Amino acid sequence: MYVCDVKRMEDKIKTFSQFGATGNGGITRYSLSPAAIQARNEFKRRMEAIGAEVVTDDMANMYATIPGSDPNAKRIVMGSHVDSVKNGGNYDGVLGVLAAMEVLETVVAEKIPHKHPLTAMIWTNEEGSLYPPAMMSSGVVLGKFDKEQMLASKSVLDGKTTFGEALAASGFAGPESNRLNPNDYKAMFELHIEQGPILEANKKDIGVVTCVIGMVNYRIRTYGQADHAGTTPMKYRKDALYAAAQLIMHIHKELDKLDPNLVYTTGEIVCHPCVHTVIPDFIDFSFDSRHEDPKVIQQVVDVIENLPKEVAGCRVEVEKAWARDTIYFDKELVSFVKESADELGISNQYINSGAGHDAQFVSEMMPTTMIFVPSRDGRSHCEPEFTPVEQCTNGASVMLNAVLKLDAKE
Ligand SMILES: [Zn+2]
Repeated sequence: MYVCDVKRMEDKIKTFSQFGATGNGGITRYSLSPAAIQARNEFKRRMEAIGAEVVTDDMANMYATIPGSDPNAKRIVMGSHVDSVKNGGNYDGVLGVLAAMEVLETVVAEKIPHKHPLTAMIWTNEEGSLYPPAMMSSGVVLGKFDKEQMLASKSVLDGKTTFGEALAASGFAGPESNRLNPNDYKAMFELHIEQGPILEANKKDIGVVTCVIGMVNYRIRTYGQADHAGTTPMKYRKDALYAAAQLIMHIHKELDKLDPNLVYTTGEIVCHPCVHTVIPDFIDFSFDSRHEDPKVIQQVVDVIENLPKEVAGCRVEVEKAWARDTIYFDKELVSFVKESADELGISNQYINSGAGHDAQFVSEMMPTTMIFVPSRDGRSHCEPEFTPVEQCTNGASVMLNAVLKLDAKE
């Protein structure tokens, strides 16, 4: 078994935390922003320093590869993203890139024999926080999103600059032929912070990720009547917000009877006219629910699609927005991660991912899996996001040994 280096890992975390630092312990590092370009240049510098060849593809995804002993072997790739949400933390995404770099650095420093070339990778614009949508570049590479549409995606800040302009200006766009593909690449590993409280609560250092859980999304609308807040007696009202509140209470009551691992959220609500002296005549709210088991998702669908057609005198409309089935990671890679953690004596458990990641798209192209490390207090997408460097390094060590198990297999 091989282990990665805590000091080297710490140095990388500290260095990359400066790129886009907010001054409050976190970062704002939008994809292809000057801060993201600093991170990319540092990635390139460090990877070239260990003899890696660094190339980019047409979406500016970056690949740093060290050769293996078999010139015909496919590459094994590890990676994640270096862009962040606004006022995000120093771990979401970037830790997966730093861990991939650490694996390559360890292999070179310790002269670890391996057949397959090993690649550390940066996915461009995973968060989609400046140029929507999320997981943009893996979506393009996997044929989920139309590239021209993505290039036309406008900055949410100025409403003008397009992703395509930022891409052209970045200097990181390369040929399409460099894209991740199943002829040149054998498998992908993505290390990521858990972004939830489970590993910490269970005192486990590693999450052996088995799947990205399925989800279903609805828009639910109520139609009432706008009237004066002072002159309309309660019994004459058709208050669309009151109706929506009753629906949300009803949904909670019914869904709490289902599997305890079910999660569901109303995170967005549109109120019309949204004036404090007017009874609302229209509400449109989101509903998002996630669970690994499609049977449980179907129970959720049954509850939502059988909501009453009228509540508090208001018409109710239910529209399915979109859904995604649970995506299972490659069983053999999952077992390599599990064995590596066990053999290293690092506490671990199986876990699923409630959040989306580039790896879920890649899993449709080649064997793929993920490794989670704990998030302190379960926090992420915020400045207090934190994982101790020892746990970060453990994650890299597990990834290194899992990669070597795959490398040794054929
Ligand atoms: Zn992420």
